[in-house]
Amino acid sequence: KAAMEKIVWRRSVQMRSQQQAWQESSEGIKMLEFRRNLPAYKEKDALLMAISQYQVVIISGETGCGKTTQIPQFILESEIESVHGALCSIICTQPRRISAMSVSERVAAERGEKLGETVGYKVRLEGMKGRDTHLLFCTTGILLRRLLVDRNLKGVTHVIVDEIHERGMNEDFLLIVLKDLLPRRPELRLILMSATLDAELFSSYFGGAPMVHIPGFTYPVHTHFLENILEMTGYKLTQYNQIDDYGQEKTWKMNKQAPRKRKSQIASSVEDALRAADFKDFTPETLESVSCWNPDCIGFNLIEYLLCYICEKERPGAVLVFLTGWDDISSLKDKLQSHYILGDTRRVLLLACHGSMASAEQRLIFDEPEDGVRKIVLATNIAETSITINDVVFVIDCGKAKETSYDALNNTPCLLPSWISKVSAKQRRGRAGRVQPGECYHLYPRCVYEAFADYQLPEILRTPLQSLCLQIKSLKLGSISEFLSRALQSPELLAVQNAIEYLKIIGALDENENLTVLGRYLTMLPMEPKLGKMLILGAIFNCLDPILTVVAGLSVRDPFLTPFDKKDLAEAAKAQFSRDYSDHLALVRAYEGWNNAEKDLAGYEYCWKNFLSAQSMKAIDALRREFYSLLKDTGLVDSTTTTCNSWSYDVHLLRAVICYGLYPGICSVVHNEKSFSLKTMEDGQVLLYSNSVNAKESKIPYPWLVFNEKIKVNSIFLRDSTAVSDSVLLLFGGNISMGDTDGHLKMLGGYLEFFMKPAVAEMYRSLRRELDVLIQN
Ligand code: ADP
Ligand code: MG
Repeated sequence: KAAMEKIVWRRSVQMRSQQQAWQESSEGIKMLEFRRNLPAYKEKDALLMAISQYQVVIISGETGCGKTTQIPQFILESEIESVHGALCSIICTQPRRISAMSVSERVAAERGEKLGETVGYKVRLEGMKGRDTHLLFCTTGILLRRLLVDRNLKGVTHVIVDEIHERGMNEDFLLIVLKDLLPRRPELRLILMSATLDAELFSSYFGGAPMVHIPGFTYPVHTHFLENILEMTGYKLTQYNQIDDYGQEKTWKMNKQAPRKRKSQIASSVEDALRAADFKDFTPETLESVSCWNPDCIGFNLIEYLLCYICEKERPGAVLVFLTGWDDISSLKDKLQSHYILGDTRRVLLLACHGSMASAEQRLIFDEPEDGVRKIVLATNIAETSITINDVVFVIDCGKAKETSYDALNNTPCLLPSWISKVSAKQRRGRAGRVQPGECYHLYPRCVYEAFADYQLPEILRTPLQSLCLQIKSLKLGSISEFLSRALQSPELLAVQNAIEYLKIIGALDENENLTVLGRYLTMLPMEPKLGKMLILGAIFNCLDPILTVVAGLSVRDPFLTPFDKKDLAEAAKAQFSRDYSDHLALVRAYEGWNNAEKDLAGYEYCWKNFLSAQSMKAIDALRREFYSLLKDTGLVDSTTTTCNSWSYDVHLLRAVICYGLYPGICSVVHNEKSFSLKTMEDGQVLLYSNSVNAKESKIPYPWLVFNEKIKVNSIFLRDSTAVSDSVLLLFGGNISMGDTDGHLKMLGGYLEFFMKPAVAEMYRSLRRELDVLIQN
């Protein structure tokens, strides 16, 4: 033991002398100078004092004041100075992997070290940390997984939970677990950091924990709303015909003269778009068309206009554009790159900033461009609080962010761009005033801003809880509803019950809410349980290759494009892929074609010809690889397994696997004389999204459709579907573990009786009886 202590002591002394040497070097002095100017630095002593005195401390401060990069460092440095360096272990969680990576790199640089020495990071599937790492930045998910095997966080001295104001599901979950842990680990320190001032909620949750606020300073920002932007351009905006997201032709204030032609004219340039406009008739629907993201929409044109305006007329300074997601960013980037000003690399440095970019690309966003070059960063809401770009003077805000929302009553989840909150809008605006007075352009009118919610609802209150419930079970945290009742803000009981019920129906939990074998595998796959289920069965039946495509396809934006003026051609192109009464299998065929073309460097051409989005195809390709490596982690496939075999393209088998995943998303097909109608148990009559391959059919030679997503617009629409037979539904719908025949029978029997298919119900009973006898013998 004494020898051990000696080693630790020696190592601590060594750490101290290394730190001192760096702080005295010329580079180190420069770095320290930068850090001293950050608002957080002025509160250093107060912060360290609070942390040493109290087990939980809550810190708030404006974005960019130095919370994430400085506070973990203050703790580390003070431990090193007091020669406890080798004993400390600080974990700082980030909601997103990109911030964990970029921040750790920055902190290592500030300490004059390489990443992976004292400072490291760990995110899913990637990491840089070594034996001597004492400050680890990781995603919240990584810490939750560690808690799975190390309930007491042995050896950890400080846990810092960053960006708690975002109220992500994982963070809220982590706080419950940490709150339980604190009494068991009295010497552990918990520090919560937030970019907004609503610290009281957290303080009272942790029994009145002290709050420290870091006062910040920002320059005034001049705010322009849509009406001002339009005025600035001298044009007005009108409403026009357009095809909405669900393929339904919606008429907003019909323009009687050839609306289609008019639309494409409008789309041809901002000027036209705005000339044709009449702002007096403004309605929320018009606004949807401003923020409807495709390369030809008004929103993109407005952004292009503003960017040109800034480049031509405005003072120097970087521009930050907030968009909803990766797909919008890449299509806007493509569009701008072909523009005569914005695409000129001698004048403009065009960069993207989103969750899934490479780290080399990441570093560029912090660099100052050469003189005369304007930096333009297209970002998701990641640049709202977690990443600070120093030289931003202009902000363009589309007003939306992609978020998962969930309606407990009709049990329908969706990931759609939705309006941000007032707090987010303020954050986005604030990004413009960090170095000098700035300008912010909101692409929505003031009246819409006034209608925004003050705060965004915490994720735990707005998304389905299925994955969370599985996690609670795998961490052995007892009863799901009891555990969730101890959250900062507890979800509705109905939402919890729905989630538990769903997990039972799909066979992840048994009658007594215990994890089944399937459930245990699902906890290893960080994705929606239904997608995980499909992958698992795909692996078991050795038809993983197409199933990987299906699952990846369900996780990205629909790659089948329907341009307004080429609708017929686009539909004809899609029809070549649809032979199986299945949108999912149509995608598999499209992907196969793309993949082959891509090998001959003709991927783009293939997409162009077939009206496919090259971005979505690439995203699918990347996700396929990611999902495959996740499956390897579970041990269900090993590196010697190939993803396909000779019968992996058996469509009957694929239907079965898809059904296994999507159940209980089923709907009954009722044929009448000319066509057919669809009915689900919960909603009654439903319709097909007009893009669906099945919407083109007059007859579907199967009695059922399984679907992933239904969306409520005016009626309820199924976005995607695959036709399945009775026997597939009987054998693969629901829980196919044999122990629970009765429960399954009741469940499925309920469906069958509801849809008045007694003959099928009888077939089912006898089938199950035979199977059970077989298994018993
Ligand atoms: P907070 O967490 O309070 O929002 P940060 O600690 O992230 O603030 O950032 C503090 C300062 O450090 C900011 O001015 C930011 O611009 C700068 N900074 C952060 N990361 C980097 C980086 N990778 N490169 C250069 N500067 C950075
Ligand atoms: Mg931060």
